[in-house]
Amino acid sequence: MAGLRARTGRFGQVRQMKRIPLCVPVLKGNEARYLAECVDTGFVSSVGPFVERFENEFAKWVGARYAVACASGTAALHVSLLASGALPGTTVPVADFSFIASVNSVVYTGATPLLVDSEPTTWNMDTELLHDHVVSLARAGAPLPPVIEVVHILGTPARIEPLLALRERFGIKIVEDAAESLGATFPDGRQVGTAGELGCFSFNGNKLITCGGGGMIVTNDADLAQHCRHLTTQAKLPGPFYRHDAVGFNYRLTNVAAAVGLAQLEQIDTFLETKRKIAACYRSAFASFPVSAPHAHPGARASHWLSSFTIDHDDRAALVATLDAAGVDSRPVWQPAHEQLPHVSQPRLGSSVAERLGRTGVSLPSSADLSDADIDRVTEAVQQHLTPVTSS
Ligand SMILES: *Cc1c(COP(=O)(O)O)cnc(C)c1O
Repeated sequence: MAGLRARTGRFGQVRQMKRIPLCVPVLKGNEARYLAECVDTGFVSSVGPFVERFENEFAKWVGARYAVACASGTAALHVSLLASGALPGTTVPVADFSFIASVNSVVYTGATPLLVDSEPTTWNMDTELLHDHVVSLARAGAPLPPVIEVVHILGTPARIEPLLALRERFGIKIVEDAAESLGATFPDGRQVGTAGELGCFSFNGNKLITCGGGGMIVTNDADLAQHCRHLTTQAKLPGPFYRHDAVGFNYRLTNVAAAVGLAQLEQIDTFLETKRKIAACYRSAFASFPVSAPHAHPGARASHWLSSFTIDHDDRAALVATLDAAGVDSRPVWQPAHEQLPHVSQPRLGSSVAERLGRTGVSLPSSADLSDADIDRVTEAVQQHLTPVTSS
């Protein structure tokens, strides 16, 4: 019992302290000033200078030539998949273990998602497994996917090389769902979201930077950028008339949202620094405990948007309850898409790793303004709950 630390004694104090939320926005930059500018100038809809400024600054920051602002990350994915040839009758491989929007956006296009299992290291789609599957489809003369949606979950880059090989060999396009991993980099130093034809980001309230709600598509292809922009603006042709050449969408970001996004982008480097510090503190504090974190492949660098762990030999629900009593928010990770009602009958490629992650994964507080004292409170609460692994 030597490993178990006292759980009493602190409880009374802890209860007085403010709750530590899971992941909340930090709005301490120019947000209010830019919003006031929107009101003062009357530019509140999707016409307005902040939209273009946000697009330009965002493209520059991630190192892409073009950026198209969207109403949400989900809208960015939908449009990107459509622009990449996802159609009824085609199959689009996507991560089984992700936030539901990754898979829903495939279904919006009428294509069938192929739910691909995770790899244990990064928790991302097993791109080697998918590579071999596609090669065997090609050998059998079966139809190939027009596009693959690779998701970089929880701040960790997926292994992109096997997908680049498929693109090279078969011309399969790549759409990156980088909604959770803005700021993470591939081994060659490029930002996630810039290796595929199209990269998608989210500025939902809990993401690295927020617009309240919003998204972005980035690309280096001028025609694709133009096509995506067209689809987000009701496919309206230029000029004063209401003429449209396709079924488009009302997916543009508003100037009000872009104003917040631009102010957030100005603070992104400090947000990233804090997220990485939080992850490093948690990892060193839990080094001798039975928890595992996802790891980026050699040379790749995670953004650590949300610090998550698998609880290897313990009851996750009990840990969440203990943390809750200590005033610390935590949250189980997603279940794989194939366990979600709308997607139970979708085809899949493997599933055991995704199922294990879904059963044992839990996310810990990761807000970009988490203080050192807050981090200590979280780590102590987790340590008090878990028994260290005794090394002999
Ligand atoms: C948040 C998220 C999205 C969707 O972004 P919204 O802006 O909420 O529509 C898509 N994919 C992943 C992996 C996400 O985490």
